[in-house]
Amino acid sequence: MQILLVEDDQPLAKGLQKALGQQGYVVNHVGTGEAALHVIEFDKPDIVILDIGLPDIDGITVLKKARKKDKELPVLMLTARDGVDDKVAGLDNGADDYLVKPFEMTELLARLRVLERRIAAVKTNEIVIGHVCMDTVAQLVSVDGKEIELARKEYMLLKSLMENAGRVQTRSTLETRLYSWGEEVSSNAVEVHIHRLRKKLGNDFIKTIRGVGYKIHAEGRA
Ligand code: CA
Repeated sequence: MQILLVEDDQPLAKGLQKALGQQGYVVNHVGTGEAALHVIEFDKPDIVILDIGLPDIDGITVLKKARKKDKELPVLMLTARDGVDDKVAGLDNGADDYLVKPFEMTELLARLRVLERRIAAVKTNEIVIGHVCMDTVAQLVSVDGKEIELARKEYMLLKSLMENAGRVQTRSTLETRLYSWGEEVSSNAVEVHIHRLRKKLGNDFIKTIRGVGYKIHAEGRA
């Protein structure tokens, strides 16, 4: 995964470059908006981490120009703590996400994984989490490379959980999903289907968040 890091704060950039490198990302670092636009045009990265406050043209302008050329390019904005207006402007101009400085490295890595999953899903129609792979076009699910049989409702619940991996899906959200897909839903339908899914996927894949709902960890394990 190739990342373009646009950040004029040298110590921060060096730290990020090192930490992301250790996670296996290839990081190309530039410190100006002009340099960023050049790289986006001639050596397109997979993901852009874009600081808003840059010495030449600001990050929002860079984002606007980049979006004109490539609507799909995933962009994660970095904003200063007091830059609430910047955040709104960034998202209005098509940023996929933003992080407020200072941020934890674990938070940045989590956001990057969300973007990566989105990229992978667009490219292949596949969501892969741990040992489970879902093809959302063919509507097939495989575990450790072996295709498994899922009932329609099981598939729909699993899809909802995998698409939102890392986030809790409440019981009522999942029930609403079943209703909206035109299914008859009994009062314990969600529990029943989750139980069946666990038999097929292993007990650890779907976590119960007691009193709230269910969750799949982004890496497929706790
Ligand atoms: Ca800056």
